[in-house]
Amino acid sequence: MRAFNAVGGTPRFMASGSGARLTDVDGQEYVDLVGSWGPMLLGHAHPEVQAAVVAAVARGTSYGTPTEPEVELAEEIVGRTPVEQVRLVSSGTEATMSAIRLARGFTGRDVVVKFAGCYHGHVDPLLAAAGSGLATLAVPGTPGVPESAAALTVVLPYNDRSAVEAAFAQHGDRIACLITEAAPGNMGVVPPEPGFNGFLAETCRAHGALFVSDEVMTGFRASRQGYWGLDGAAEGWAPDLMTFGKVMGGGFPAAAFGGRADVMAMLAPDGPVYQAGTLSGNPVAATAGLTTLRLADEGVYEHLTKVGDAIRLAAAEALTQAGVPHVVQSAGTMFSVFFTGQPVRDFADASTQDTAAFAAFFHAMLDAGVYLPPSAYEAWFVSSAHDDAAVETVLAALPCAARAAA
Ligand code: PLP
Repeated sequence: MRAFNAVGGTPRFMASGSGARLTDVDGQEYVDLVGSWGPMLLGHAHPEVQAAVVAAVARGTSYGTPTEPEVELAEEIVGRTPVEQVRLVSSGTEATMSAIRLARGFTGRDVVVKFAGCYHGHVDPLLAAAGSGLATLAVPGTPGVPESAAALTVVLPYNDRSAVEAAFAQHGDRIACLITEAAPGNMGVVPPEPGFNGFLAETCRAHGALFVSDEVMTGFRASRQGYWGLDGAAEGWAPDLMTFGKVMGGGFPAAAFGGRADVMAMLAPDGPVYQAGTLSGNPVAATAGLTTLRLADEGVYEHLTKVGDAIRLAAAEALTQAGVPHVVQSAGTMFSVFFTGQPVRDFADASTQDTAAFAAFFHAMLDAGVYLPPSAYEAWFVSSAHDDAAVETVLAALPCAARAAA
């Protein structure tokens, strides 16, 4: 996506970032609505995160031993979410891959259920009908994944309870886990219909399968407690396993998976399910993530909501004025603009977008100094550093970009 495959034109090479802004190698400045695809909750080069990271680097970068920051980061995650135990890894892909292996090891079953349009990293069995880059390029899967790996994946339409019931009725005793984005952001933002995640948790429980909630994108982003804080916390259910990444690394490679203590007990070295990583819990990455999470208090999320609301409403207004069919959807502080006239509740709806209209909109925004995700299928991300001036730049750019899309 960063190569502008989906929107055409010359990709911008960024030289630096500060707060809400990026500067490219030609000295052009942009208000950034990508945030490195989610991690930069506090904006670029946040002074306190930067100081903590510089100090951590000065102490040494990797020891392959336990360190204090990794334990403190794990405690911060356990403190905000329903997971009882957590293990650190280096990418979201590693987190979902490990969660699935653990679910299979725990249940002794092999089938994995996922939803079309949900992206969980480039894990072999999860690349069937995935979102993100695969959605944009309309690739159903990828060469290199053995048929046998894809054959163990059941792909269902999102937000479709009867499809879930039918799949469990047919394969229930073979299903190790159902994995879903807590609120999908990789086909654009498609919030779960009320009660949908709780229904998934209950269905899994009834069939002895594990419910894996992927919060790599939503974790510590949709709300302080992730998307779970907006549904499970109030409804009184918890996933069996969760995955995290992006924000919890503060711009460095750090991710995690965690959940029920009895499930996590299956992991090596105490249990039989193998999992390891040379750089897992790296002290510099853990320091960046820990510092970010400690700074991310409720005030940060209130600010993201305020800024997100302002941009969402202005985008809708500009597109309406220009007569461009669109739908704006949000999940907590995450949102995206779909270039289609119909509400988007699954991947088939998202695929009705006019991607040429989006490309025209994208380039007009870019010319006006706003860096949007270069794909119609991605969430727009704001940060605590998006101040009034940054929002004003975005709002000023919207009417002209909307006309370009008409
Ligand atoms: N899960 C979700 C929901 C994601 O959005 C992503 C990345 O966009 C991943 C997993 C994979 O994470 P990573 O790119 O760190 O491997």
